[in-house]
Amino acid sequence: MPGFEWFGEEERREVGEVLETGVLFRYGFDTQRRGRWKAQALERALCERLGAPHCHVVCSGTAALQTALAACGIGAGDEVIVPPFTFVATIESVILAGAVPVFAEIDETLCLDPESVRERITERTRAVLVVHMCGAMARIDALQALCETRGLTLIEDTAQALGASFRGQALGTFGAMGCYSFDPVKTITAAEGGAVVTGDAALYHRAEQFADHGHDHLGGPDRGADGHPIMGTNFRISELHAAVGLAQLRKLDRILDTQRRHKAALKAAFAESGDLAFRHLPDPEGDSATFLTVLAPDLEAARELQRALAESGCGPAFLWYDNNWHYLRRWDHIRALRLPMRPALGLLSPPPDLERVETPRSDAVMQRAVSLPVALSWDAAELERRARAIRAILGV
Ligand SMILES: *Cc1c(COP(=O)(O)O)cnc(C)c1O
Repeated sequence: MPGFEWFGEEERREVGEVLETGVLFRYGFDTQRRGRWKAQALERALCERLGAPHCHVVCSGTAALQTALAACGIGAGDEVIVPPFTFVATIESVILAGAVPVFAEIDETLCLDPESVRERITERTRAVLVVHMCGAMARIDALQALCETRGLTLIEDTAQALGASFRGQALGTFGAMGCYSFDPVKTITAAEGGAVVTGDAALYHRAEQFADHGHDHLGGPDRGADGHPIMGTNFRISELHAAVGLAQLRKLDRILDTQRRHKAALKAAFAESGDLAFRHLPDPEGDSATFLTVLAPDLEAARELQRALAESGCGPAFLWYDNNWHYLRRWDHIRALRLPMRPALGLLSPPPDLERVETPRSDAVMQRAVSLPVALSWDAAELERRARAIRAILGV
């Protein structure tokens, strides 16, 4: 699955270049750094790879989400429509912005169902935060059209889907802003890191300012000469992390090719069973193939399949319904708004009650979904072993 499997000489060389100069900061130190600007190089490379006009790299995917929400002006009391199946960071970011997460249903794409999003729109809705889960796309064309007609800001959490596309266009470039993560289990890693992309120059400038205490970065080599049109915070990436990300990004296309080959082999083994279906992919060509997700007939069958896969050495397989990181059902701490301080949305009257939120149609999908991570390190023999084990489990 992730880039950490392919960590080598290329990463060491990039990091070595930074260590030689000793300039670990992404701004300034123009003479000492001897022309080495890793964060800027990573931003240019991401723009080129994704076909995005602007990119700003930050210290994590979570920081990317918070930066995007801030740059888009989403704040206290605004409603943001989100899916119940994501990583907790998506929801944390909305709550820390003081905004209200409003959960819509997912469908067999494992991503937001545009019809359900439409039903959740109120006069306080400001944004839809779509998450492209497990390497592949939501029904992004329908969500984009809906947001356009209703005057809502579309933000894409593409943390799990770098390199995936819909009809040839990179995921993350459909909304006002797209967010990526380079944490250790993502498609490429920088140890920690993230990025926002946008086609809107004004949003880009607000993002780069917000992520660096409001600096306008117009002072040249003298950081003290920068103006501060807004206040912000510190979500900066270091040159060391950006250097790793740069080396990893150069491997992205090879990573995607390998994942797609490995996934196709696993999928072929499953395809022989009439009992199982696959996750719906609105554009199978654009799948980044980090996971193969099968849909069992019901929860009992899904648990049985998960257990059998683990026993046959094909695990870990994830049954998201039972998972306490990725699905709303088990997010007790978020439902209770258990923060160390009082969140801004607690001041709303009435305050939103996340304990009572139910997503029955999403439950029905999650109860059936079993996902297998696709590894880069499998060789032909290992792939064949896995295919044989899967056929044995299915009795075909
Ligand atoms: C990983 C992830 C994030 C957060 O990224 P970090 O770099 O770990 O902060 C956000 N959303 C989703 C869907 C993720 O999978």
